[in-house]
Amino acid sequence: MQYRHLGNTGFKVSRLCFGALTIGPLQANLPVAQGARVLRRALEYGVNFIDTAEYYQTYPYIKEALKGWTSGVYITTKSYAYTREGMQKSLHRALQELNRDYIDIFLLHEQESILTIKGHWEAMEYLLQAKQAGKVRAVGISTHCVAGVTAAASIPEIDVIHPLINIDGIGIQDGTAADMLEAIKSAARAGKGLYGMKALGGGNLLASYDRAIQYVLGIDELSAVAVGMQTIEEVEYNVRVFNGEEIPAALQSRVRRKPRQLHIEEWCRGCGACVERCQAGALKVVNNKAVVDKKLCRVCGYCGAVCPEFCIKII
Ligand code: SF4
Ligand code: SF4
Repeated sequence: MQYRHLGNTGFKVSRLCFGALTIGPLQANLPVAQGARVLRRALEYGVNFIDTAEYYQTYPYIKEALKGWTSGVYITTKSYAYTREGMQKSLHRALQELNRDYIDIFLLHEQESILTIKGHWEAMEYLLQAKQAGKVRAVGISTHCVAGVTAAASIPEIDVIHPLINIDGIGIQDGTAADMLEAIKSAARAGKGLYGMKALGGGNLLASYDRAIQYVLGIDELSAVAVGMQTIEEVEYNVRVFNGEEIPAALQSRVRRKPRQLHIEEWCRGCGACVERCQAGALKVVNNKAVVDKKLCRVCGYCGAVCPEFCIKII
């Protein structure tokens, strides 16, 4: 496993970052013990970087996977909180549910521009105080927007940026892959630590896996790339790809390359809560039923968390 310095944080993270969203309730919804085994296998292969968020509901998996694990691990989490009190609650919850004394990296979740960062600044100020108190080691933002990266690069207090980047620019809200790449390079020059997300376009690039992964691994400014994994085979597969090793045919055939997609059950009552939640504009209500535009959907599963009828699944 290769390790890279993450900007000026002093952290040396594995190039492969375990994206924990996929094992949790918003996607595969694995039993905690099973999801923890998948994560533990990644740790055994040398992955030392875990990406999660309060919204993903995966703290119990991470806590379980780390039981008895004595090597160093860096955990990123994120919160949508925009007030001091909200962020205080988010940090307290993360520390308690992960059973940690500090959080390595705490990000403002899904920031779009300088305006949204300003709107969340009270929460960021709380994180900066927590950093001084040793409860958080680095702060930053996650973003699907070029404008989010550019804004964060200009803010001295921000240590880490977690941008969406993939070869086809799937899911970038305000530009192309080339625009995002330019913003990433400029943020790296400003000393920010960067690690990418959605290298596979939320599953849409699974059919072009090698091309998509080689693209992000070729971006030197990304210290790591978060990849969602749901099975031990997927962990083995990704570790080999990141290490530049051959993939045995048997493993190749065990890892299904079927693109994932959003499925809406027929009992949807058209309340529109999911439409409001989707920042990609991929949902609308037609004839009292939610319908998804597959070209816009990033297959993040975020909409599933707000459906009162539990009718949204990633399959
Ligand atoms: S939130 Fe659920 S019930 Fe409401 S429109 Fe969306 S899928 Fe249908
Ligand atoms: S429709 Fe749901 S899964 Fe697709 S991008 Fe929107 S929130 Fe994510």
